[in-house]
Amino acid sequence: MVSDSHITLVRAPNASPMTLSGTNSYLVDSGGGEALVIDPGPLDERHVAALIDAARRRDLRIAAIAVTHGHPDHAPAAAPLARESGAPVHAHPRSAVPHDRDLPLDGELRVGELALRVIDAPGHTFDHVVLYEDRARTLFTGDTILGEGSVVIAPPGGAMRPYQRTLERLTREFPDARTIRGGHGPLVDDAQAKIAEYIAHRSERERQLVETLERGPQSIPELVARIYAETPKALWPAAARQLLAHLEALVSEGSVAMTPLERPLTPDEQAMLNPAWATFVDARLAELLEAELGTEYRIERLQLYSLP
Ligand SMILES: [Zn+2]
Repeated sequence: MVSDSHITLVRAPNASPMTLSGTNSYLVDSGGGEALVIDPGPLDERHVAALIDAARRRDLRIAAIAVTHGHPDHAPAAAPLARESGAPVHAHPRSAVPHDRDLPLDGELRVGELALRVIDAPGHTFDHVVLYEDRARTLFTGDTILGEGSVVIAPPGGAMRPYQRTLERLTREFPDARTIRGGHGPLVDDAQAKIAEYIAHRSERERQLVETLERGPQSIPELVARIYAETPKALWPAAARQLLAHLEALVSEGSVAMTPLERPLTPDEQAMLNPAWATFVDARLAELLEAELGTEYRIERLQLYSLP
């Protein structure tokens, strides 16, 4: 029988356009009075206290902490939570998040009576894992799949083809998955339909990109203005980085050619490609946007992309 009453969602108070209604932290009762916390969340005392309180109210001792990836809305609370609970922090072997134990990729994370499959899931970041818990038949997907909307894939931390391969793997290797518990947004109650939707979204976007390139050589700002004409301009910097991720893949596969444009960026191009977040949002959101959109990696030179 599928049961998921052993899983508690504790949502962090960090709602924003990037984090939707806030980061989803999960407290998983692993039996024997112990619990695993997946994605402790942003550095926020109230949230750490809420996690400890959620465990206490269920008579559970936090015995392990796992982070899906190192972004500032998922991982930084691991340190204070580890201090308070004494639990070790588990992360991807390549993660820069300070951690006590490497997650065994394609192996199992064992906590109490629970064994979760650890799936190496590069794409959103190179240090991303997805966890599968088979009692609830649920995938804990972090920022690989969200409860609503789509995920940002932004170089240099993110990469499109690894991301698409991760999605293919999830659909192929977890046909029994019933639900998805993502890092943001609501519970997804039809896992396979959601993964299929995500796969289709990426290939549709790429088809649209190649179709737009049939008009002739274009830069990313020109491509964004055409492909995302209906999208609010505030979202164009994110759109530009998504296209960059597709274009990097297409260029490396030889399906698209790239030649540098020998002129400086205009102010509009600069604002789209290298937005100065700190001038219009608070410092914490600026830091998150830099990480999620990869804009700490500056695009200094415009390229013209074309079909060979
Ligand atoms: Zn993220």
